[in-house]
Amino acid sequence: MKLIFLGPPGAGKGTLALRAVDILKVQQISTGSIFRAAVAAGSPLGLKVKAIMDAGKLVDDETTIALVKERLAMDDVQKGYILDGFPRTIPQAEALASFSTVDKVVNFDIPDSGVLERLGGRRVCRKCGYNFHVIFNKPSKEGICDTCGGEIYTREDDKPEAIQKRLEVYRAQTEPLIDFYRKKGLLVDIDARPLVDEIVIEFKKVLGV
Ligand code: AMP
Repeated sequence: MKLIFLGPPGAGKGTLALRAVDILKVQQISTGSIFRAAVAAGSPLGLKVKAIMDAGKLVDDETTIALVKERLAMDDVQKGYILDGFPRTIPQAEALASFSTVDKVVNFDIPDSGVLERLGGRRVCRKCGYNFHVIFNKPSKEGICDTCGGEIYTREDDKPEAIQKRLEVYRAQTEPLIDFYRKKGLLVDIDARPLVDEIVIEFKKVLGV
């Protein structure tokens, strides 16, 4: 099954994707994670995108589309995938349609207040990328990942100014994709406010899996 996870930053797309890959036996492709890995490695791509990401802005369409096109040509995603964080603009969605089909687009519905609460408290493992939260999902030992022992940190783009910018960018550039995919009959809506276990149940119900 080929899925797109659409929704504002902090809606829980990545967290649900981690559960959904087990259910559907497909790969998660997170453009944000790919860019973060490039930044951590100090590669040419990383050097190009670091400042853009830190400011909460979008990487240009050409770079992002080329990256996803290359990833979707690989063997391990021919039967299915979850695209988490792509497409984020209409040109990206149009490009995607030219090199892949999509079965459903899962729209994570959450008000700005929910986004602010989640992103403001989000902490991430530098090594494995697992997400924690200062109130809702604390690690057993402060600053240390329960899953892999890695260091837990606050993403540069989860700081208040960048969060505001990312929400603005989402409303202006990504939200129009809701209509784009609804008109194509591909959109399913999920209430992204409950805890992840409840969202998993709804996810399975709306997709019939
Ligand atoms: P995310 O982890 O999905 O919140 O992405 C983190 C950052 O990576 C975003 O704020 C953008 O700077 C960049 N990024 C991720 N996906 C895309 C995309 N599809 N188009 C442009 N920039 C992206």
